[in-house]
Amino acid sequence: MSKEKLTTTLFLAMPDFSHPFELHFDASMIGIGVVLNWSREGSCSKENLQKKVWKGIWKIQGASVVKTFMWQACNNILPTKEVLYKRKIVQEPSCPICGLANETVDHILWSCPSAKDVWTECSPKISKCASIVDDFSAIMAHLLERLDADQLQLMAATARQIWLRRNSVVFGGELTDPSTIIRWAKDQVENWCTFSKRIPKREVVSGSPSPAAWTKPPQGYMKINWDASVDKRRKRMGVGVVVRDHDGRAIVMLGTSREYVQDPSMAEAIAAREAVMLAQRLELRHIILEGDSLEIVQLLQKEEECWSTYGQAVNDTKQRLHSWQGWGIQHVSRSANGAAHQLAQLPLGYDAAQEWRGSFPQCVLSIVSKEC
Ligand SMILES: [Zn+2]
Repeated sequence: MSKEKLTTTLFLAMPDFSHPFELHFDASMIGIGVVLNWSREGSCSKENLQKKVWKGIWKIQGASVVKTFMWQACNNILPTKEVLYKRKIVQEPSCPICGLANETVDHILWSCPSAKDVWTECSPKISKCASIVDDFSAIMAHLLERLDADQLQLMAATARQIWLRRNSVVFGGELTDPSTIIRWAKDQVENWCTFSKRIPKREVVSGSPSPAAWTKPPQGYMKINWDASVDKRRKRMGVGVVVRDHDGRAIVMLGTSREYVQDPSMAEAIAAREAVMLAQRLELRHIILEGDSLEIVQLLQKEEECWSTYGQAVNDTKQRLHSWQGWGIQHVSRSANGAAHQLAQLPLGYDAAQEWRGSFPQCVLSIVSKEC
């Protein structure tokens, strides 16, 4: 009965179904009340704010380590005492410096008296915003609107220094004074400016046209080719990653598989993440990644966060990439990705991940030696 009423009652105005809305309803002995609540202020604007902050952070000039730190701060994933307290890792949540409030990200980086001291000395423009009380991503949204590129760069570096100072206090160190914190932040900005002029970053890779044959990376770089394979019948995907040096020699190969992945784009996103994680494990300093999925390569090249079903894998890969000093990513045609393509077929047949060093599967090695 109530279902029939709910689905046949006339609306006063048709809502815009492209936006999320909430349906509130209740029933009494005499009737049913239904409210369709569509609010621009609700989840929608929170999502927009996050997107805006995400874009803003990656545009800040500066070291990847600083951007990654800012990203963690805005996503509230820094191990503050409040976070650790909620996970029952520490006994109490209060700020390790002032003890006046729970240690949240916005407290330790922004509203703690010890942080305020730093911001006052750092820049009048930043300290003017000191009255903002909100979570850290909302504070960042304000600052992104008000500060210019240089001020944002210094702000981000300073925020990270405040966090590092907090860590040293937690581990028994003394509280460094504001002027030293600011000097360290300025030094870091200066070093980055000099360093980034000297080392080309993504410019090492030309975007188009996509090469049709495998080419050697520049001296000092490792080239990492990845590919994914999908076996729809067995509901399984395979990953192949081949790491080669500037002479084209194979250094490491990785083959691994996952169950229940059948979507080719999802498989490619997962394979790209495996490639980057391998490079992290090997502690490679300068890398060029190559894949033959144009969609995933383009998503990884974009600064914006990816909101698709495989967004989590793509965003995590991007975050890992941004911690590199020198890296590049480019799309290549299948013919230039032969070794990884061949390797990705192998793990469909077995469960465990396998890493090869020194001796490699013959079918892949024969492709590699032809390309050297
Ligand atoms: Zn405090």
